[in-house]
Amino acid sequence: MTGGAGYIGSHTVRLLLERGYDVAVVDNLSKGYRQNVPAGLLHEMDVASTSALTGLMRQLKTEAVVHFAAFIAVGESMAEPERYFVNNVTGSLSLLSAMHAAGVKHLVFSSTAAVYGNPHAVPILETFPIQPMSPYGESKVMVETLLGWFDRIHHLTSVCLRYFNAAGSAPDGALGEQHEPETHLIPLVLRAVLSGKPVTIFGEDYDTPDGTCIRDYIHVEDLAEAHILALEYLLAGGSSDQFNVGTGSGHSVVEVIRAVEEVTGQKVPYVTGTRREGDPASLVASSDKLQSKLGWQPRSSELKTIVKHAWDFARQHT
Ligand code: UDP
Repeated sequence: MTGGAGYIGSHTVRLLLERGYDVAVVDNLSKGYRQNVPAGLLHEMDVASTSALTGLMRQLKTEAVVHFAAFIAVGESMAEPERYFVNNVTGSLSLLSAMHAAGVKHLVFSSTAAVYGNPHAVPILETFPIQPMSPYGESKVMVETLLGWFDRIHHLTSVCLRYFNAAGSAPDGALGEQHEPETHLIPLVLRAVLSGKPVTIFGEDYDTPDGTCIRDYIHVEDLAEAHILALEYLLAGGSSDQFNVGTGSGHSVVEVIRAVEEVTGQKVPYVTGTRREGDPASLVASSDKLQSKLGWQPRSSELKTIVKHAWDFARQHT
């Protein structure tokens, strides 16, 4: 696995180990945390190091790769597109080249709802037009395209999981969301509660019932489960495909703030600001395909459960 020291990767490592898989983590620790990876599993290595990756996969007789390692901030990608294309696209190409050289035939890829840009309707189906609005989204589209060619030419099968809004944390508080800088709504709202410093609502003039943006928040453990199902599907001979990973229910920024107030029993200090560049009004997944083809079911993605687990983690780690 690449990026296993990061947020979603570390939860997926944990679940894979619980299910009895033999896991090796490749992470350069530029964003991830050493303590997120169980002792002995971490190979501190960059995905750009094609020959080192090839050697490692040969040595470990790797059967499949789950590829998380990437930069993830939409806003940052609008300021520094080159970093996103180098790290996300060139990095993935290096990994794919190494997989080809080592004879590894299956990949589960962290893609994103950002591939759809500003959709013409919700819920979003996998067949909707691909029209990213940021270099981040574009970098994921480019890797999806590379994967198509690696399948056609090298018979490397892949599943692209297009995540909606990953949130929450392991219920025992051992793992959780710790981005630096943090840009995601739920951890920022929780920080506002803990610090007393207001969080900013990015725009309240959207065409939504309360004027704030609507997103589909999915518990990180439900997301981790989707990776395991995708991996098992590929190992069983499934052909390359793309799936949305979301719940089908959207929540506005104001609804998230209200849920945090309910869970914490405290008022959230907030101010209203202007829109953030590149934010679509509403992003909600149809996950029918993931449910029907891979048998996935969200189990912990009720908003209050997500917020409760995120709150338990934030209290312990802030
Ligand atoms: N958001 C906000 N204030 C913040 C951070 C986020 O109002 O400080 C809004 C953002 O505009 C979006 C939603 O919260 O509508 C979720 O944003 P996040 O960055 O968590 O995820 P994204 O949808 O960009 O992947």
